[in-house]
Amino acid sequence: MDAFYSIAIDGPGGAGKSSMAKKLAANFGFIYVDTGAIYRTVGLAAYRAGIDRKNESAVAKLLPSLDISMRYNDAGEQRMFLNGEDVSGEIRTPEISICASDVSALPAVRAFLLEMQRKLAREHNVIMDGRDIGTVVLPDADLKIFLTASAETRAKRRLLELEQKGINTSFAEVMKDISYRDEQDSSRAAAPLKAAEDAVVVDTTSLNFDESFALLCELVINTLAMDRKD
Ligand code: C5P
Repeated sequence: MDAFYSIAIDGPGGAGKSSMAKKLAANFGFIYVDTGAIYRTVGLAAYRAGIDRKNESAVAKLLPSLDISMRYNDAGEQRMFLNGEDVSGEIRTPEISICASDVSALPAVRAFLLEMQRKLAREHNVIMDGRDIGTVVLPDADLKIFLTASAETRAKRRLLELEQKGINTSFAEVMKDISYRDEQDSSRAAAPLKAAEDAVVVDTTSLNFDESFALLCELVINTLAMDRKD
């Protein structure tokens, strides 16, 4: 049995994974690992380098020069660093979302980031969110949740989140980003977005934040009660 708990939350963009995972982590004293931010950082690096983001050998050549790290600030927020520079704000734009989706389809990129993610789960109680956490990164996670909602609901929520961060965009642009990534993330050969066979599927289309959170809390509490690590 592993020494630490791991909870995997997968699902499409805008399903509320990060806000749910962040609050669950604070509630249960876990660390929250946003793996999308790690892929976004690689996407940003490829964008800045001006290379073809779907060209695996071009992106693979770039990878060894990248120093990607994450740190937690006093508020428990995950900050992303690319070669020492804090890029946490820059990786959030719709343009970089698309770059992240492009590079994340490349097996070389996925292999490059796999150990970094697994190491965090070996050393901490983690709530990790992404697309392939339950299927590939942490297949033995104590709890796997697949969080989803209709594309329109996800686009509305994402727009609100971006506006709150001061990122200026429109519903049409966010919907375009969501549709592009839904299609690309689900159809790729390498670690496609899909629910693990043993995941609990939670559709939040008709649930508000508090209702969704209460449901997930119950799942976590049941898991912790069933599998004590002490
Ligand atoms: O979760 P977020 O929307 O920030 O992720 C950005 C992109 O990174 C996704 O559209 C997906 O293509 C990719 N990703 C991934 N695997 C993960 C997390 C994110 O492929 N575990």
